[in-house]
Amino acid sequence: MSRRGVLLVISGPSGVGKGTTIKRLFEIEDNLYFSVSATTRKPREGEIDGVHYSFKTKEQFEHDIETGEMLEHAVFSGNYYGTPKSAVEEKLLNGKDVILDIEIQGAKNVKRMLPEAVLVYILPPSIEELKKRLIGRNTEDEESLAKRLHTAYSELHEAPDMYDYFIVNDTVENAAVKIKDIIEGERCSKAAMQEVLKQILEEAENLA
Ligand code: ADP
Ligand code: 5GP
Repeated sequence: MSRRGVLLVISGPSGVGKGTTIKRLFEIEDNLYFSVSATTRKPREGEIDGVHYSFKTKEQFEHDIETGEMLEHAVFSGNYYGTPKSAVEEKLLNGKDVILDIEIQGAKNVKRMLPEAVLVYILPPSIEELKKRLIGRNTEDEESLAKRLHTAYSELHEAPDMYDYFIVNDTVENAAVKIKDIIEGERCSKAAMQEVLKQILEEAENLA
């Protein structure tokens, strides 16, 4: 009898280091599944279809919404982003811990549908540093940069009431280790251990 997997939702302002930290997390922690999102944004240099994202046209994406294939979806900075449903549910049932890297509206919808989801928000050490990282990544034109910073400021207002954990990404190593610690704690939570508890109780009843 295995426990149910932990569903960990990771959000944070664009450029804070979510992708970089998650990459490190996968090097130091086993039994994780990264949910590859679908998006209509163009691939960045080095991004691989099916690994970083499933890159779709607007028509393909809207078709997937209509056929109910998305657990959640949102528009971010003018593009669609969404989480395919079937893999997430299957992995959780099989006891794999699932990592979603999604923005705040998506996190809200996931929490509504799967209340056991654990919500983690990554903070920058300062807003100055956030800007530096986003600009330094060199992936956005001026318009996209402004949109992403604007979204970051409004997200930061909403996050304190919504998320369960907050991690300052000072160094990638610190941030990855903290996420790993949260996962390990959550593996012992009531939600994750429900099936195990049920089985032990059934066995105990047979003893009595
Ligand atoms: P996000 O996925 O949150 O948009 P990225 O992982 O792409 O952010 O990181 C944005 C930029 O910041 C990248 O150039 C990355 O190398 C850099 N970065 C990430 N974490 C740190 C850190 N702790 N210190 C310095 N730079 C970082
Ligand atoms: P980027 O374009 O920088 O890769 O991602 C932009 C934003 O979209 C980030 O905040 C990221 O967390 C979010 N995002 C990525 N995939 C999904 C998804 O499947 N659903 C939602 N709602 N947001 C996503």
